[in-house]
Amino acid sequence: MSHFAAIERVPGDPILGLMDAYRLDPNPAKFDLGVGVYKDTQGLTPIPHAVKLAEQRLVDRQTSKSYTSGHGDPAFGTGLLHLVLGAASPLLAAERAGATQTPGGTGALRLAGEFIAHNLRGRGIWLSNPTWPIHQSIFATCGLRVGHYPYVGPDNRLDVEAMLSALQQVPAGDVVLLHACCHNPTGFDLSQDDWRQVLQVVQARELLPLIDFAYQGFGDGLEQDAWAVRLFAEALPELLITSSCSKNFGLYRERTGALIVQAGDSEKLLDVRSQLAALARNLWSTPPAHGAEVVATILADAELRGVWVEELDMMRQRIADLRQGLVQALQPFGLAERFAHIGAQRGMFSYTGLSPQQVQRLRDEFSVYMVGTGRANVAGIDERRLAQLAAAIAAVSA
Ligand code: PMP
Repeated sequence: MSHFAAIERVPGDPILGLMDAYRLDPNPAKFDLGVGVYKDTQGLTPIPHAVKLAEQRLVDRQTSKSYTSGHGDPAFGTGLLHLVLGAASPLLAAERAGATQTPGGTGALRLAGEFIAHNLRGRGIWLSNPTWPIHQSIFATCGLRVGHYPYVGPDNRLDVEAMLSALQQVPAGDVVLLHACCHNPTGFDLSQDDWRQVLQVVQARELLPLIDFAYQGFGDGLEQDAWAVRLFAEALPELLITSSCSKNFGLYRERTGALIVQAGDSEKLLDVRSQLAALARNLWSTPPAHGAEVVATILADAELRGVWVEELDMMRQRIADLRQGLVQALQPFGLAERFAHIGAQRGMFSYTGLSPQQVQRLRDEFSVYMVGTGRANVAGIDERRLAQLAAAIAAVSA
């Protein structure tokens, strides 16, 4: 008897399939706008210099590889809380917020999902439509009831009115997931005014926000990108935040992130954190240490921090330049207005508005690889070939 006889093969992640197809394409003029990692002018995903310097220090200083605690490296936790909430946040003085280190932002989302499932029984979670597809699968796997609120409609525009009226119908007490900045997959972010309106609904419906903060520093700047998170943190008694260091520190494979919890008072925070440590024990026991120690080293050292901030600024500027560059390159084809949203969006991703058929043609006829929904990773553009990319987009847009 085979124990595995009934097991069927499931399709792989479509983005990984896209990466394979790109790799096998012999066309030297190809574009990889698929996978969600930052790329530099050479098309590489570099290790930031600040990370290399911190790693060198760690190699010299580290004396043990013994387990960290269930909440991870305390210096990392403090550094990240300062980065996300602001060093002067009254929540920190009141000991109302704490960070639990997790394997990346994905681990933080999973831990949040387990916490909601086990400790906030009966609460559903509401995701933007569209959202990062892994949100849906993580929370469903945790056994949560998953709902969606409209975000970007078929006309490829942010629809705040529809979002707000859907949130007004959400059962009181449910969890609503919000992207802090650089919305994945669309690139459409809420304005400050929109955020204030969302906050009003959250307060009126007594919803619990879970803010996914995977791209701090990739939108408008480290502080600017934290604006909405801090607005919510100040206005609400309780909040969940998932923070990822994959993109802004270039630490993707080191699996570095945290679940930040804000509670009503310091005693309740300890109650919640005891539950998180117990849940994490069943998931990964204790978190991976290396990336967190790198981040803690960079954040605690003025010189390394300066190097890192400069590198992060460069990454953000490159993406902003590419966005403007692509819109300008589309100008000669009379398409600058039609694709003006690419210049206004934030972060690495852009919902271009190209249809699945147009995406397929771009791939088949021009070796331009992007996700079937029309999501392009702007950071994957080679700025020396903007005109070539614009010509390809124009050809399929005719
Ligand atoms: N949330 C969003 C919106 C993301 O785009 C990503 C990364 N693609 C994550 C969370 C997870 O990040 P990490 O790689 O740190 O697990």
